[in-house]
Amino acid sequence: MNPFIELGIRHDIVNALTELGFEKPTPIQEQSVPVLLAGSNDFVGLAQTGTGKTAAFGLPLLELLDFSEKHPQAVILCPTRELCLQISNDLKKYAKNLNNVNVVAVYGGASISDQLRQIRRGVQIVVATPGRMLDILGRNAIDFSHIKYVVLDEADEMLNMGFQEDINNILSTTPESKKTWLFSATMPREVRRIAKQYMTDPVELTMGTENTGNANINHEYYVVRASDKFATFKRIIDFTPGIFGIVFCRTKIETQDIAEALIKDGYNANALHGDLSQQQRDKVMKQYRDKSIQLLIATDVASRGIDVKDVTHVINYSLPDELESYTHRSGRTARAGKSGVSISIINVKELGKIRQIERTLGKKFVKAEVPSGFDVVEKQLFGMINKLHNVTVNEEQIAPYMPRIMQEFGELSKEELIKKFASVEFNRFLEYYKNSKDLNVDTNNINVNERNGRPDRSRRDETEAGFTRLFINVGSVDEFNRGDLLGFICNSTQISGKSIGKIDLKGVFSFFEVENDLVEKVYAGFKTVEFNGREVRIENAGARQRESGGRSGGSSNGSRNRSSSSHHSRPRTGGGNGSGGNGGYRGGSGSNDSSSRRPREKQDSGFRDFSGRSKSESKKRW
Ligand code: ADP
Ligand code: MG
Repeated sequence: MNPFIELGIRHDIVNALTELGFEKPTPIQEQSVPVLLAGSNDFVGLAQTGTGKTAAFGLPLLELLDFSEKHPQAVILCPTRELCLQISNDLKKYAKNLNNVNVVAVYGGASISDQLRQIRRGVQIVVATPGRMLDILGRNAIDFSHIKYVVLDEADEMLNMGFQEDINNILSTTPESKKTWLFSATMPREVRRIAKQYMTDPVELTMGTENTGNANINHEYYVVRASDKFATFKRIIDFTPGIFGIVFCRTKIETQDIAEALIKDGYNANALHGDLSQQQRDKVMKQYRDKSIQLLIATDVASRGIDVKDVTHVINYSLPDELESYTHRSGRTARAGKSGVSISIINVKELGKIRQIERTLGKKFVKAEVPSGFDVVEKQLFGMINKLHNVTVNEEQIAPYMPRIMQEFGELSKEELIKKFASVEFNRFLEYYKNSKDLNVDTNNINVNERNGRPDRSRRDETEAGFTRLFINVGSVDEFNRGDLLGFICNSTQISGKSIGKIDLKGVFSFFEVENDLVEKVYAGFKTVEFNGREVRIENAGARQRESGGRSGGSSNGSRNRSSSSHHSRPRTGGGNGSGGNGGYRGGSGSNDSSSRRPREKQDSGFRDFSGRSKSESKKRW
């Protein structure tokens, strides 16, 4: 007998589940369905993301509600619009063979009149984000007096996002007699408090140890200099050709910058963050689900709860502020029994953070080595050679072209031909990775300076062969991070990001490397560029250093350093105001994002304590 039938689910639903490929219940489903089907208890279910919680509450609801009635009997509250749509679609799929099941998704950022119309037509299950739900209740547009079940899905995240009060208000419109089912991946104190406040003797189910990650996820970390983060990231993805990943950043701007830099370099990537319009968000999600993009660059909130199958890698481009977010992030991979990798790119200062996550998850992270340029190129080459080996030749269709092809290539030796073929696709990689350096930081041998977060100067100052190190009079006081600066340089000069080497972000100025033959283009490009009303100045860093008598790149003892070591000092040039720099070249685009304009130093100087509630986006409503 089908194990779902044994759990008490009717045939019509089980048939739909079979079509969805659900052969047997997941552990949380197996344990919670019988309890919930009784319909007589409040309930708390704790299980990792990707373990099938939607069906765990969805199937019992479909069994318990009376679909011959047309009034709301269950309300499911969840934190984001994406999740809301996902849950309502999942429920509709399970209910495919049932009659008169009406599910409405209620969320912000979309036309309320459509949602009201659907409600008026009659619904039994409302799936909602708290803000919009309250709005609709406030209009007296829905009757919750017959609600039998309230589900709080991803309760931890709803609390993180500041929905507590909204939830209180919504619950107060439902009858005393209703049952409340709470689902969460983690059980922070606040969730426990909510459970206490709203529930009477809830049945509690914890699958696995609380807060331990999904066992199918392997955790890896790379230790590199902060300034090498982007280069490391690119190596990792270049070394993983089949990657289908989600890349997590901490701010919208960082998200946007990384995505832009990737797109510029020819990757299939796009950004997902809270500043996009709903339409844009939908489009990006669709692209990702369709796999027409390979890398989704996202903020925590925007990607919360997203269930995309086959995500191979989660990359923590920046570690999250809070430990729980790490669990949620990594939970985007290894879904429905598959395995996945969660990668963190960190600097030495963040090692402690990794240890902390390891302790909490009870799982050891593997320290991985950034592949060398040679390894990456080799991997890509052999990937292509493999493709060449396996390609199916359509003899018939290629036949008419063969004489001409032979004529073109007849002169070439086999070796020459092979070399040319390999080069066609690989010049990009060969070019990018020629003279590439070792990005790994030796954590066994961290010198004192580095422990303090100051990388060893003598090594940092090596300019890559083929590159020239240039000085630019903008830096972190202008709220630039490395990605910002890269974008600024690329935009101003029309030079591709791949021709820009290392970027050393300082206080009021920075250094960056550019391929030797593009130096003039940089000068020309910046000739007409202003930043915050001040002229942008480029100089050859080598020349500067000789001038000031410092070691190469080491403005450490030159006069310039005095201004760089203090973030309060003003730039020497122009009247530009370094600290309030909100203008900048980003100008119109994402400019109302004041939340992500926290001083950069904060973001760069390691992470705050995980318990800190400092998420910039956490109050955002969708
Ligand atoms: P959670 O809410 O715990 O994060 P979801 O309910 O979103 O997890 O389910 C994760 C994935 O697992 C979804 O793609 C879902 O379709 C799939 N899934 C759920 N239950 C089963 C099952 N019994 N068999 C196979 N796949 C399942
Ligand atoms: Mg879920």
